[in-house]
Amino acid sequence: MYARLHGDGNEQGSVTARVLDGRALADQLRDEVAPEVAAFTRQYGRPPGLAIVLVGENPASEVYVRNKLKTGREVGVRADLERLPGSAALTDVLELVGRLNASEVHDGILVQAPLPGSLGRDAASRVFDTIAPEKDVDGFTPGNVGRLVQGRPTLVPCTPLGIIELLTREGVPIAGRHACVIGRSEIVGKPMALLLLQRDATVTICHSKTSDLAAVCRSSDILVAAVGRTGLVTKDFVKRGATVVDVGMNTVTDASVAASLFPEGHPRLARFRERGSMLVGDVHPSVADVAGALTPVPGGVGPLTIAMLMMNTLRAARARVGASGRSPARIS
Ligand code: NAP
Repeated sequence: MYARLHGDGNEQGSVTARVLDGRALADQLRDEVAPEVAAFTRQYGRPPGLAIVLVGENPASEVYVRNKLKTGREVGVRADLERLPGSAALTDVLELVGRLNASEVHDGILVQAPLPGSLGRDAASRVFDTIAPEKDVDGFTPGNVGRLVQGRPTLVPCTPLGIIELLTREGVPIAGRHACVIGRSEIVGKPMALLLLQRDATVTICHSKTSDLAAVCRSSDILVAAVGRTGLVTKDFVKRGATVVDVGMNTVTDASVAASLFPEGHPRLARFRERGSMLVGDVHPSVADVAGALTPVPGGVGPLTIAMLMMNTLRAARARVGASGRSPARIS
């Protein structure tokens, strides 16, 4: 793809990765979950309910929350925004979460990260620890993390869950393959590694202290980059034909960085020059010449995360009312 466009082929010939279209799968998942939500609403006289807590005015969080509310409406989930000002104290946030824990109409609670720094260093863990585990649609509470570690997951973090759904539906074999996850965050890296392990991959977790990162990654059949460093994963990280999942969401505003990613004449470089910024992942676009399959940014992992949030909300709602119900996604 990159090589064909720019005459930058490697000596062994270009692979041109198959694009793993997360946006298309997210649309499909929404179409699958909507009738299940409607059936729940008919049966229990109310829709599954999701409360989204937003503290302060982080511009990126505003966009994420807006998209979550919009998708909720589209699939028939009751999605309510609970806003607190940036000046709110930690006790205000804990009080709000406590109120939502007791709410009859809310089955899921999502506290949008990051929380303002003014709340203190351990604010996130204190807030997430307060969420009732049965309403923890982000899968961050210690009980839900413990269940995932023990291989009996209930509510699992949405981003890694969406990646597994994508790999499964795209027919990417996991069992017996070597998977490398770059990043060990609670939100993406660790649960991603656990989900791959549970599907019988041999898993390596890499991080900022990993020696010879490229060589470690190059031995993997599935490479998941969840770092937050623009273009970190270059061709020399990737085994020919490997599946590469790019979780990174990085906003580039520096023209020299943009030019290091896309060569002169590339449409994305032209759009960058019009707008002054662009969203890119952790994987350098030239990796498409070596990988067998690759998720794009944007349009890869991002849309799946929100679709899985709706799945988790329905799952939490069913569990609260004691309904078994068929799981709309294959993962349960
Ligand atoms: P995070 O908490 O900042 O964790 C980043 C991880 O990357 C850490 O484990 C860190 O290692 C590791 N790392 C940093 N620099 C490295 C390097 N040079 N080499 C190897 N490892 C390195 O980030 P996160 O929350 O997991 O998010 C990661 C990225 O995914 C971000 O771009 C974020 O915006 C994106 N994201 C996307 C979605 C989505 O829906 N698409 C959802 C969540 C996150 P240490 O542990 O050693 O510091």
